[in-house]
Amino acid sequence: MEGCGEALELDPGLLLLRAPDWGRIPYAHSLLALGRRSVLVDTGLGPPAIKRLRRRVKLALVLNSHYHRDHNWGNYLFKDAPVRAHRLDAPMINSMSAYFRAMGIAGRRDEALIRRFTLGFIPHIRGPRVGTFEGGEVFDTGELELEVVHLPGHSPGHCGFLHRASRTLFSADVVPDSFGPWYGHACSSMEDFAATIDKVISLSPRALVPSHGRPVRRGVERALREYKSRIAWREERLLGALGRPRTLGEIINEHPFYGRRRAPLGLPYSFWEETMVRKHLERLVAEGRVVKVGRRFVSRPQIS
Ligand SMILES: [Zn+2]
Repeated sequence: MEGCGEALELDPGLLLLRAPDWGRIPYAHSLLALGRRSVLVDTGLGPPAIKRLRRRVKLALVLNSHYHRDHNWGNYLFKDAPVRAHRLDAPMINSMSAYFRAMGIAGRRDEALIRRFTLGFIPHIRGPRVGTFEGGEVFDTGELELEVVHLPGHSPGHCGFLHRASRTLFSADVVPDSFGPWYGHACSSMEDFAATIDKVISLSPRALVPSHGRPVRRGVERALREYKSRIAWREERLLGALGRPRTLGEIINEHPFYGRRRAPLGLPYSFWEETMVRKHLERLVAEGRVVKVGRRFVSRPQIS
């Protein structure tokens, strides 16, 4: 696949098309499954690489792993091919107002700023209308089979793609790096994300191939367990910060999850971190481990 970005053969006919800078956003890697009916997963490689790919490979189908735009901003280059995403995420690809609703910015004081930032980061060029698929669906290229694995949490319709024959899982934004697990939009769910990590562990992939960064081939389970443990770590950080009463604004100003090192970056980190803090607080309040007194939150000592 010369000239289509750097291609890494995961198994015969199954290629990871490497995005610039190892898939640092706004880029994301693609998965290419070759055969009589070749399938491409995600279109965030950047227009030059996608145009080169289109000249070399006849694609029968394009799939989007989820609605985030770093994974599908090249959809507009596939106006003549069917493009599909999970039923729960397709609406946010088809409509920018649904997209912003899913992010959870409506009604915020900084709504206009976040909108501008988001569109400035990856310009929006309308693509073809995206159809839908479901978890468990299998796409047969004639040479190999790719199975959709619904992995919600990061977004409601976030999906991975499993090549069972080689136990290779393209895990999209299940990226066991220091940044995630990421559940920083209103429609994200940390409970679903935790269950998703367990599901990935149970699939026991030989290679875990995320959309950003390098494939993980060794210590996959260990990496995933460490990744999941960060959800509990964040909870502990938050409980620690709530040893004395604090308002939401005060908690967020302490950057309990991403630390002060990333704080000067401002948007979108501040918005993502706030959303994640809110999700943890909601759960802690529901569990009675944190109480809200007026505008302040405080942890309740647990009797063991
Ligand atoms: Zn994403």
